[in-house]
Amino acid sequence: MTKPLTNMQTRDVEALLHPYTNAVMHREVGAHVIERGEGVYVYDDQGRRFIEGMAGLWCCGLGFGDRELIETAQAQLEKLPYYHLFGGRSHEPAIELAEKIKDLAPGMARVFYQSSGSEANETQIKLAWYYNNAMGRPEKKKIISRVKGYHGVSIVSASLTGLPYNHKSFDLPVDRIHHTATPHHWRGAEPGESEADFSARLAREFDEMIEAEGPDTVAAFIAEPVMGAGGVIAPPEGYFEAITPVLAKHDVLCIADEVICGFGRTGEWFGHQRLGMKPNAISMAKQLTGGYVPLSAVAIDAQMAEVIERHTGEVGIFGHGFTYGGHPLGCAVGSAAIDIYRRRDIPARVRALEPEFQRRLRSYADHPLVGEARGIGLLGALELTPGGTAMFDPVGKVGPYLAMRLLEHGVILRAIGDTLAFCPPMTISEDELDQLFAPIERCLDETL
Ligand code: PLP
Repeated sequence: MTKPLTNMQTRDVEALLHPYTNAVMHREVGAHVIERGEGVYVYDDQGRRFIEGMAGLWCCGLGFGDRELIETAQAQLEKLPYYHLFGGRSHEPAIELAEKIKDLAPGMARVFYQSSGSEANETQIKLAWYYNNAMGRPEKKKIISRVKGYHGVSIVSASLTGLPYNHKSFDLPVDRIHHTATPHHWRGAEPGESEADFSARLAREFDEMIEAEGPDTVAAFIAEPVMGAGGVIAPPEGYFEAITPVLAKHDVLCIADEVICGFGRTGEWFGHQRLGMKPNAISMAKQLTGGYVPLSAVAIDAQMAEVIERHTGEVGIFGHGFTYGGHPLGCAVGSAAIDIYRRRDIPARVRALEPEFQRRLRSYADHPLVGEARGIGLLGALELTPGGTAMFDPVGKVGPYLAMRLLEHGVILRAIGDTLAFCPPMTISEDELDQLFAPIERCLDETL
């Protein structure tokens, strides 16, 4: 029997429509109301403490309550709480953050700001189209993303996203967006096919798709170095190395969606550096500000920047920009976050924690409920195989059930269908990692 809703839960169901939530079930079970956070922990309105195994939504890489970020935000609000970059205005926090991003991402020449990851990818597609118009190739506009890729929820970014719930009943995807295969060896490989052979096959299929669409009609390929919301899927050996020559052959731009992988998460500053991807443009958000303030950035290489800047002279104006793009608060906090990542050498810290984190994840690989234990850096997943048990039929239910059981043991993880995702703050200590993993075996056993 479900418990009666608290006063706060009643107010919640009467006032909010929740993202990624079944509103009918939500009305039954009520909201989990989080009140405050400190370090790797959050506390709910009943005073219970939870270890945040997902860094919020893959964004609070520095945990909660970081004094430096809070004091930077306060100082910036007092000095200049708002300004914009329209029509040639500027401010130092925006300039300084762009300089720091360029330092971390060699090859990138210019930075454009928005507030969210979706808007960053929306900008990317507009830039790819603007670029090809500038190049005198008005037909070269199609974009290829991947099944299970996640790029956001605005009309175009949701179309890039390759997940059914983002399309169903929203009349998406829009035209000119196509999806190629997920590079998931465990699910997608033929029997006996090695990772390298699987990568080579996917690259061949990708090449065939571009040939079938017509290379003169394909503008860009967008991919996360490690797929996040599609189930934490790191590419198999040689994947981006096999894709890169196909992009070069057809003069197709490569966009790295680093919204989750950026700023140390995979053990390098950016995921593309770890996974061998060679982008012309990069999307960043989430850990850009440690999740404390909404801000996203798009960085483009010198060739794109030169063509786009020149074209603005011909068009008359670069007709794109958001009121809150490059908000001084976000830029100041982003700048401070990068200082902290550098000072604490967060990529090195992730590399140091990675072996133990991945060893623990993989220690569940032989559990009867686990199909695959996988991950890279401080990103991980347990893909569960309910095996058609009556309790968890149809598929897609065992993940949420397990996440709910773990919550009872003080651990917050995210169920993506039957996959349990892990993305703890990158500041997590070894003791806190113990706490994160402590109840997992028991909850798996009890769910059998
Ligand atoms: N791109 C990636 C890789 C993401 O993981 C997300 C969000 O999870 C987005 C884009 C969209 O970002 P936002 O929710 O800030 O619009």
